[in-house]
Amino acid sequence: MTTSLWPLEWPCQICKDIRPDDKISVISTDVSSEHGWPEGTMRQNVKYCNDRPDCMEKAKVYRYDTANKKDTPESA
Ligand SMILES: [Zn+2]
Repeated sequence: MTTSLWPLEWPCQICKDIRPDDKISVISTDVSSEHGWPEGTMRQNVKYCNDRPDCMEKAKVYRYDTANKKDTPESA
């Protein structure tokens, strides 16, 4: 009864792999200014592999709403 019975695994939002809890970190980014909000009012949390530098770098610039923006100029 000393170890957790719950298999803690999370999907990395960058590479989409399912990773154990200790390999996943969360980066909290203040995206307020990008949406015209006062600083500190809007944050997003992105899960990434903390043992993969590539995921780490991409998590810093990852934005939730880029995928479903209606008027993305570069989608052409
Ligand atoms: Zn990853």
